[in-house]
Amino acid sequence: MPSLTVSKGSTDKPAPNTAVCPFCALLCDDLALNQRPDASFTVARNGCRRATAGYARAPLASEALIGGRSAPLDEAIGVAAKLLKRARQPLFGGLATDVDGIRACVNLAERCNAILDHVHGDALASMSRMLQARGWYATTLSEVRNRADLVVVIDVDVSQRYENFKRRCLDARPAPGNAPGKGREIVFIGAGKRAPEALGADTTLSCRSENLVEVLLALLATLRGHRLAARRPAGAAASALADLAAKLREARYATFVFTPAALAEHREPAMAAIGDLVDELNRSTRAAMLALGGDDGGQSAVNTCAWLSGFPLRVGFGQTLQYEPQAFATRALLDGGAIDALLWVDAFGEQATPPPDAPLDHTVMLASSRPSVAAQCGVFIPVGTPGLDHFARLVRTDSVVTLPLLQQRDSGLPSVAGVLTRILEKY
Ligand code: SF4
Repeated sequence: MPSLTVSKGSTDKPAPNTAVCPFCALLCDDLALNQRPDASFTVARNGCRRATAGYARAPLASEALIGGRSAPLDEAIGVAAKLLKRARQPLFGGLATDVDGIRACVNLAERCNAILDHVHGDALASMSRMLQARGWYATTLSEVRNRADLVVVIDVDVSQRYENFKRRCLDARPAPGNAPGKGREIVFIGAGKRAPEALGADTTLSCRSENLVEVLLALLATLRGHRLAARRPAGAAASALADLAAKLREARYATFVFTPAALAEHREPAMAAIGDLVDELNRSTRAAMLALGGDDGGQSAVNTCAWLSGFPLRVGFGQTLQYEPQAFATRALLDGGAIDALLWVDAFGEQATPPPDAPLDHTVMLASSRPSVAAQCGVFIPVGTPGLDHFARLVRTDSVVTLPLLQQRDSGLPSVAGVLTRILEKY
């Protein structure tokens, strides 16, 4: 039965549970929840639309499926073990789970000779590549809140995702002494009207998303003192770029905030340009970048896989470890017909569906929601959501904190780690 935490001294009304939210990589740690009779929650304080939707989902019925037929959990675990044992080249994909879930994935992958990739693997791989190839000056949520006096937000729409970034990092004034005589200035570069409004931007430098790299490079050239030949490079006024370059030079701690996943096909050149801007500023003042990403346990997956294997995902286990950041992408493996079994994990209920061309009858799916495709999978096993149905640890977007998330209800649903450990025992 669902449990509620009741504060001391309360006589008739239960106090809201306090919680760390698992539904994006900001991991806001100040939410208050009220439990409903169906064991879902309403968010009483500090939530956002994404959190409200996530907490509003009631836990799944604990019934597993084998080929669409209801089955006891033990039997489903046995069939899953056999399915993975028969495979020549399994892929463990999705990987939307917590630190312990990824540890269990790695343990099982070692036995199955599986490849690991995350549902946000493309963006995560770009970040890893940038770190490996050029390095970066990265900062944290706390540093932005306490020290940044100029925050340049690059095409991030906080009305869609990371809604609480503004409340947690931008609305607070920098600590006294970090930005003497002024508060924090927010500059938005990118497309759309809603995004700068949602951010409360002081200045907007509008440009189309496809022109973003060109605008960033024009800003870099201006910062380096080069004269621009065009009056409106990529549609941005040269005078606006000159104003922003002057502000960046004067700032004591400028921060560039971006979302690797949203940069799509411009991701790597845009990130390289941001890296160059930060490098240039650090010659004379202080600047850093903050990448918002690693949702659905992505940051936990990258870090845990790196701790355990030395490689940040897209790693294949076997007699030797193989790290192939492009060839081991889920899409590349499916397109090349390289895998004959899939373990798909979605413990957050957001990425529940495996790719449509996955070998579904050879798929073991562990998920906290039940899409219609569950009945077509070889095995479907319902699992709990980390930080709701079981204790969990998750790595925050800035990778400097691993937060503990307390269990909020007793749904009886197993964790991903628990199920995978049992599959490994039967393998
Ligand atoms: S911003 Fe992210 S972590 Fe914070 S409440 Fe919303 S979904 Fe949860």
